[in-house]
Amino acid sequence: MERRDFLSATALGAGLLTLGGCHRPKEQQSTDTAEHYRGKKVTLKLATSWPAHFPIMGTGVDRFAKRCYELSGGTLEIKVFAKNILVPAMQVFDACSAAQIDAFHSGVYYWKGKNLAFSIFGGMPLGLTSEEMITWLKFGGGYELWRELYGKFNLYPLIGGTTGPQMGGWFKKPINSLADLKGLKMRIPGLGGEVMKRLGINPVLLPAGEIYTALERGTIDATEWVGPALDRMMGFDKAAHYYYTGWHEPGSILELTFNKARWEKLSPEHQAIITAAAEEMTGTMLQEFRYENAKAFASLPSYVKVMSFPTEVMNAAKKALKEVLAKQSQESTDFKRVLQSYEAFAKLNKPWDDISTKNFLEIRG
Ligand code: CA
Repeated sequence: MERRDFLSATALGAGLLTLGGCHRPKEQQSTDTAEHYRGKKVTLKLATSWPAHFPIMGTGVDRFAKRCYELSGGTLEIKVFAKNILVPAMQVFDACSAAQIDAFHSGVYYWKGKNLAFSIFGGMPLGLTSEEMITWLKFGGGYELWRELYGKFNLYPLIGGTTGPQMGGWFKKPINSLADLKGLKMRIPGLGGEVMKRLGINPVLLPAGEIYTALERGTIDATEWVGPALDRMMGFDKAAHYYYTGWHEPGSILELTFNKARWEKLSPEHQAIITAAAEEMTGTMLQEFRYENAKAFASLPSYVKVMSFPTEVMNAAKKALKEVLAKQSQESTDFKRVLQSYEAFAKLNKPWDDISTKNFLEIRG
């Protein structure tokens, strides 16, 4: 049943109760409460920043919506709208904040213009991996900060998947030194772009549909995207043959964000179902990215040269990142607070990660 229909149906019900002489305290007569929605059919509109059924990220949301329906016995229907159907891809945050839509699926770093600190919830260059990011958010205080800061926009965020480690991007020419980066035009967003700018690169933003042509024609010299699976779908290997290993997006987090007032009016059962289905989506998306990337990497054309940036470049990137973080901490107390929480977890985590995961991967060889 549409929300409007059942609101009018319950208004009718309330009217009948009044006619029957049943008087309840005023606050209990409200039909717009979590208790009221318990067991009732609820339909939510969710807009994404992706094209319809976009592989892994878009299909992940489709699967999430299907799981909510199954787990709720059909009482929770989440209608997924591809980008630009209900609202433009880059306006989902504002539309959800204003309750024009109930929820959205997107990338957190798109909203750094709202608050610089938001980019940290999406991941950090040279920082935490997907598993580490999720651990920080769930156990290290990240979620509390994210929900506090999104709460000011009437939003309630959940982790909505993660990409795993991303590749460093496609370059038309090899990068043998810092000097080779000077003046190159590269499509690279977020904090990675800020770092690259300090290394002499000219970071540009392009709509997804224009990147391939720009690279092919030489309007840009390089682009990052995600990893082998999605990059090859875009055809980048045909336009640039040097494929660099990743550093700037080691564990990007996607978001599944709800209008906070709407979220608070969902029944506890529906909230629990959404939370569980979102966790399932996050795990499945990470596994699917791993599998699809492994397959696509194994079948890269032989003309593609997989390279790592020279140590000189990565050392300069580390130094530039510190400068960027210090500058943004000065500009924004929220950024500083979130960074402190992130860094406290990173510091706690590293010795154990070194002795467990990193050590084991070296032994395994
Ligand atoms: Ca990327």
